[in-house]
Amino acid sequence: TPPATETTRPTVIALANQKGGVAKTTSVASLGAALAELGKRVLLVDLDPQACLTFSLGVDPDTVERSIHDVLTAGVPLDEVALTTDDGMDLVPSAIELAGAEAMLLSRPGREYVLRTALEAGDTAYDVVLLDCSPSLGVLTLNALTAADGLIIPMPCEMLSHRGVGQLLDTVGDVQKILNRDLEVWGILPTLYDGRSNHSREVLADVGARYDLPVLEPPIPKTVRFAEAPAVGRAILATARSSKGAQAYREVAQSLLPRL
Ligand code: ADP
Ligand code: MG
Repeated sequence: TPPATETTRPTVIALANQKGGVAKTTSVASLGAALAELGKRVLLVDLDPQACLTFSLGVDPDTVERSIHDVLTAGVPLDEVALTTDDGMDLVPSAIELAGAEAMLLSRPGREYVLRTALEAGDTAYDVVLLDCSPSLGVLTLNALTAADGLIIPMPCEMLSHRGVGQLLDTVGDVQKILNRDLEVWGILPTLYDGRSNHSREVLADVGARYDLPVLEPPIPKTVRFAEAPAVGRAILATARSSKGAQAYREVAQSLLPRL
């Protein structure tokens, strides 16, 4: 055990892909719940103005007192914004006003470092921080990549889903050169996988070689349980404890443990 004065920094993981509907938010909620089950202290940060992660954890973004917007634009400490959820994880919620944060940050020097600075100033109550990015490569996503130790790229095993990954990887290269030398791409997380479809299997077999990136295993199967879960305002693992999808996320979470 480290001495009480020693502070251990949480491992920060960004889930990003500038395409919407690739299961970023589902993966953040599910991996977070799986890591919490494994005894990790987990903080989720909703960096999407659409606030789907916030909703899916049963928090109404219209009524939250403070959100990630206040952290990024007014320097409010993360600890003062984090909420405890029913699912054993803490959440820094989003709110619609976050849509204006990009513009507010644009005129600020060091705008890409705001989240990183807030995480470093925060107390060290967490083992792992998962960042749910919006479907863009704007200032908010640059903040996530600048703060992150690892990047996971959720990618559906469906037709044309590859488009745009090259652009994301170019951005990652720029971030590694200029903003965050320590950023590592941990891999592609194949999502919405249909083992009965030839196309799904071909995409899975080809995707790692195509981008010269590791592929996290196992792929996350497409199941109706997931489509239903956010509607009832609970994290996926809680509503679908025994589903194949939840089990796959548990195995991926287990495979990440050595990196934490
Ligand atoms: P993103 O955050 O990338 O926009 P979401 O996590 O919101 O993607 O997922 C997009 C949609 O796909 C949601 O309706 C979600 O419920 C659904 N979905 C995600 N993962 C699965 C899955 N494994 N099987 C079926 N539906 C899924
Ligand atoms: Mg999302």
